[in-house]
Amino acid sequence: MLEAGPWDHNPWIHIPVGFARLYVTQKFDWNYQTEPEAELNGRSVYWPRGKVVGGSGSVNGLVFLRGSPRDYDRWVQLGARGWSYDECLPAFRKLETFHGPDSEWRGKEGPMQIAEVPAPTPGCRAFVETCMKLGFPRNADNNGDWFEGVSPNQLNVYKGMRWSPAMGYLRPALGRPNLKVETERLGLRILIEGGRAVGVVVRNPEGREETYRARREVILSAGAIESPKLLMLSGIGDGAALQALGIETKIHAPEVGKNLQDHFMVRFGFRTRPADTLNETMANPLRMAKMGLDWALSRRGHMTIGASEASLFARVLPGSEEPEVQFQFVNFMLDNPRQGVSTAQLAKHPGFTFNFCQCRPDSRGEVTLRSPRVEDKPRIEARYLTAPSDIRVMLEAAKLARRIAATAPFADYIQEEIAPGLNTQTDEEFLGYLRSSGTTVYHPSCTNRMGTDDRAVVDPELRVRGLEGLRVVDASVFPLVPSSNIQPAVLMTAERAAEMIRRAT
Ligand SMILES: Cc1cc2nc3c(=O)[nH]c(=O)nc-3n(C[C@H](O)[C@H](O)[C@H](O)COP(=O)(O)OP(=O)(O)OC[C@H]3O[C@@H](n4cnc5c(N)ncnc54)[C@H](O)[C@@H]3O)c2cc1C
Repeated sequence: MLEAGPWDHNPWIHIPVGFARLYVTQKFDWNYQTEPEAELNGRSVYWPRGKVVGGSGSVNGLVFLRGSPRDYDRWVQLGARGWSYDECLPAFRKLETFHGPDSEWRGKEGPMQIAEVPAPTPGCRAFVETCMKLGFPRNADNNGDWFEGVSPNQLNVYKGMRWSPAMGYLRPALGRPNLKVETERLGLRILIEGGRAVGVVVRNPEGREETYRARREVILSAGAIESPKLLMLSGIGDGAALQALGIETKIHAPEVGKNLQDHFMVRFGFRTRPADTLNETMANPLRMAKMGLDWALSRRGHMTIGASEASLFARVLPGSEEPEVQFQFVNFMLDNPRQGVSTAQLAKHPGFTFNFCQCRPDSRGEVTLRSPRVEDKPRIEARYLTAPSDIRVMLEAAKLARRIAATAPFADYIQEEIAPGLNTQTDEEFLGYLRSSGTTVYHPSCTNRMGTDDRAVVDPELRVRGLEGLRVVDASVFPLVPSSNIQPAVLMTAERAAEMIRRAT
C-alpha cells in the first residue's frame, strides 16, 4: 500500500473533536480550493482531503450514515449492475460492529465500530424533540430499513476514540505477509505496458522516483480528486484534453474527472443561553480541564463528538417521496458561522449551528488537469447551484430551518439568530445567503463513475474500461452521491471490491 501522507500517529487524529483542527493543516491535508464558483459570487471553496494513512477517514467528521436505500437502486438504473441496496446490504453489514439493537440491517462482527451518540447534549435533545413536534418521525435507526426522520447521529467512535478505516482494517492486517505499507510515497502515474496496468511510479521522501510492479492488479484508491488526476496523468482520460497538455493518450476515457458531485451546505448560527455547548467549555479553563478529565477517565463528553450530533432527513417539496435534505445539529457556533473553518475560531458565547444540504444534488462539476505536472493541483469546478432544482430545495430547507428554530423546546434556547439573521426573509435574500456563505460538506465523488455504457470509466467490477489490471476503489466510482455522509458507502464499495478481487484470482 502506497500512501502520499504520513502515518496517523498524531493524537488529534484519534480524539474525535480533533477533526476540527486537522483538516486545515498542511501536514495531513491536500488543501484543495475550487475554482471561483460562478453561482457563489465568484468565491473559491476550500476542499479538505485527508493526506495521511486512513485517508479522509482519518480526518473526517465521524458521522456514519448510509443514506437512502434507494440511492443504490438508482445506481443500478444508471448501469451499475449488481449494486442495488439488497446486493450491497451484506457488505454494509459485514463492515460494521453496531453497538445498538440487533436487526436484519445491521452488522455485529465487522471491523468498523459504530454507535449512536451516547449522551446527547441538551441542544441535541431539544433539536430531536422539536423535529418530532413538527411531525418528523423519531427514527430509531437511520441506518436501518429507512433513513427518514430525526435521530442522534451514529458515529464511528469507539471507547471515545475515532475508529478510522486505518484502525478498523489496516492495523489488524499489518502482520500479514502480503501487506507492506510505504508512507510519503506520492503516486506520479500508473505504469501501462501492452494494454495492461503493471505497476505505479511514485516519488519517495528523498525526491527520487521508485517503481512498484504489480503481480496481479493495481488498485487505485486515491479519492475523488486524486484518482481522476492520476488516471489523466497516466494517459487515461479525454484524448483531446490530454493531447492539449502533451500527454500521450493510452485510453480515451472521456468521462474521467466528469460527473463531479458534492453536497452543498449552508449554516445557520444561533447565539443561545447556556446549554453545555462546546463554546462554553472552551471559554472556561476549568470546564476545559473537566472536558479533558472526562475524556481521559471515562471517554465521555465533548471530546468524543465529531462534526455533528443529530441528523434530520426531511422532505421539503410538495408530493416528494423521499427526503431531499439532511439537517445536522452542531453543539457549537463559530465566531463567523457564515464561513466556519475550525473550532479554533469558536464564538465566545454559547451557540448552536444547523447545517443543511440537499441530499441528491443535480448540479455537476468536473476535475481537470491544470498541467501535466503532478505538483500542480487539479482544477476543481464544483458548479454548485447551477441546477435550478438545487436552489429550490435549498430555499425550502432554509424555511424549514426557521421553523425548527422557532419551535420549542429548541426555540427556548435561542437568544439570537446570528446567521443569516432575521433580516433575511425573502427567497431572494435567502438565495443571496446561499451564494455568499454556502460551502462543502466534504463529499466530492463520482468522478470515475461506474456503468455499463461506453462512456463509463469503470465497469461494475470497478475495472477501468479498455485496460487490463487496473481497478478504482474509492468515492470516485459512485454513479450518484449517496443521500448522506458518504464514508459508509466508500467502505461498502471497498468490501465488495475485495470480494471481486478474490474471485478474480
Ligand atoms: C473534513 C472532512 C469531513 C468529513 N466528514 C465526514 C463525515 O462526518 N462522515 C462521512 O461519512 N464522510 C465524511 N467525509 C467524507 C469521507 O471521509 C470521504 O468521502 C471518504 O473518506 C473518501 O474516501 P476515499 O477512499 O474515496 O478517499 P480518501 O479517504 O480521501 O483516500 C484517498 C487516499 O489516497 C491518498 N492519495 C491521494 N493521492 C495520492 C497520490 N498521488 N499518491 C499516494 N497517495 C495518494 C490520500 O492521501 C488518501 O490517504 C469528510 C471528509 C472530510 C475531508
